[in-house]
Amino acid sequence: MADRNVKISKQNIEKQKEFMLLIKKNLGGKKAFAHVETYGCQQNVNDSQRIEGMLLEMGYTLTDNREEADVIIFNTCAVRENAEMRVYGNLGALKHLKKKNPSLIIAVCGCMVQQEHIAARIKAKYRHVDLVFGPHTLWKFPSLLFDVTEHKERVINISGEGVIAEGIPVHYDGGAKAFVSIMYGCNNFCTYCIVPYVRGRERSRDEEDILNEIRTLSQSGVREIMLLGQNVNSYGKDRGETDGFSRLLEKVCEIDGIERIRFMSSHPKDISPTLLHTMAQNEKICNQLHLPLQSGSNRVLSEMNRNYTAEKYLETVKLARTLMPDIALTTDIIVGFPTETEEDFTKTLDILREAKYDSIFSFIYSRREGTKAAELENVATEEEINNRFQRMLDVQNALSYECNAVHEGKIEEVLVEGRSKTDEHMMTGRNYANKIVNFKGDDSLKDKFVKVKITKAQTWILYGEIIEILDK
Ligand code: SF4
Repeated sequence: MADRNVKISKQNIEKQKEFMLLIKKNLGGKKAFAHVETYGCQQNVNDSQRIEGMLLEMGYTLTDNREEADVIIFNTCAVRENAEMRVYGNLGALKHLKKKNPSLIIAVCGCMVQQEHIAARIKAKYRHVDLVFGPHTLWKFPSLLFDVTEHKERVINISGEGVIAEGIPVHYDGGAKAFVSIMYGCNNFCTYCIVPYVRGRERSRDEEDILNEIRTLSQSGVREIMLLGQNVNSYGKDRGETDGFSRLLEKVCEIDGIERIRFMSSHPKDISPTLLHTMAQNEKICNQLHLPLQSGSNRVLSEMNRNYTAEKYLETVKLARTLMPDIALTTDIIVGFPTETEEDFTKTLDILREAKYDSIFSFIYSRREGTKAAELENVATEEEINNRFQRMLDVQNALSYECNAVHEGKIEEVLVEGRSKTDEHMMTGRNYANKIVNFKGDDSLKDKFVKVKITKAQTWILYGEIIEILDK
């Protein structure tokens, strides 16, 4: 069982609040801008909301414009190499801003810099970076920033083990949807993945802390919650509980004002029939499940240390579909794992067809230094892997269209997000399945539930006509 002393004490959080006030005082009412750029997953988005929450308390105004910023923060991701390359490129591009404005503070945080060799590289080669901190020291951001601003020190702090820090201000964008992290870290050590090395072991937040956060969000107008964790099915296991996640979901369902609940990610080895029953029995939990498959080959799954077989995975899909016939399924697939053969890949395509996913998040394998898979030799050429990737997209695009076409003619509840980014004459929102639905309407519908008749399906999007505005 994990050490429950991972929670940062209230006194330590209070100290950080004092640093926030000190920085605010030192700004002396001067308008100062902060720009936060997020790479990677929703958990990183949620971390950035904490960073922004702290910056607002310090008196900074948030800006999307790097050029006008007094503080620029890159919250980075370590899962794939190209995301890291992008960070290096963007960091290099900040050099000229620092030249123009020597008092500009540049900070890099997140999973990428938690890797020692990367922190060392930034320290040595990116001299214009003032502050580096990892996920374990995020809660100390105010004191670290204070050391940079007031003591004019260059600070690199990626020390510490996995912690839970409650009471950090969070900046939500004021919309009807919000992310809530319920746990941090991962115990699974999939052989291709760097996350357990940079985010530490699984730590579940206390139930009351999570519920209080959601109650506050509900009072501020949030209607839809996405519960986040690397493996939400493990929630509570570090306290010796079983089915803790199902119980948590039931309690979230009881919160007035919260109409939709989603979660991600679920590890297929840990998803239980109890959880699927809980989903089926509670209207507020969307019939939508993201269940990362990664590969359809049992041999590759074993080399990935995923601890389930394709057959076991399909049993879960079958039960989910029996309990929730309209369930929308999505998954993650890695193409080109080092030992993947054509035969292995064909098995992945077979499962795609059998599970009939609404959509997939597919990635070409990215070698991560320090992981077990990094020691394996590639058996396929780059050309073969690219060819597999394209074939998989072709198969999936046809399946995604088929899944979307099922919605045609149906009347569905949509939570409106705002104007469509691709067509300003359309409003856009999501149905229970998290599918994008575009329809004609005006800005007054933003953050409201509406009933939409789906008139046309495309591979990635549904179109419809508004039938009714719901006053939920
Ligand atoms: S479950 Fe596997 S893939 Fe997911 S974060 Fe943990 S180690 Fe990485």
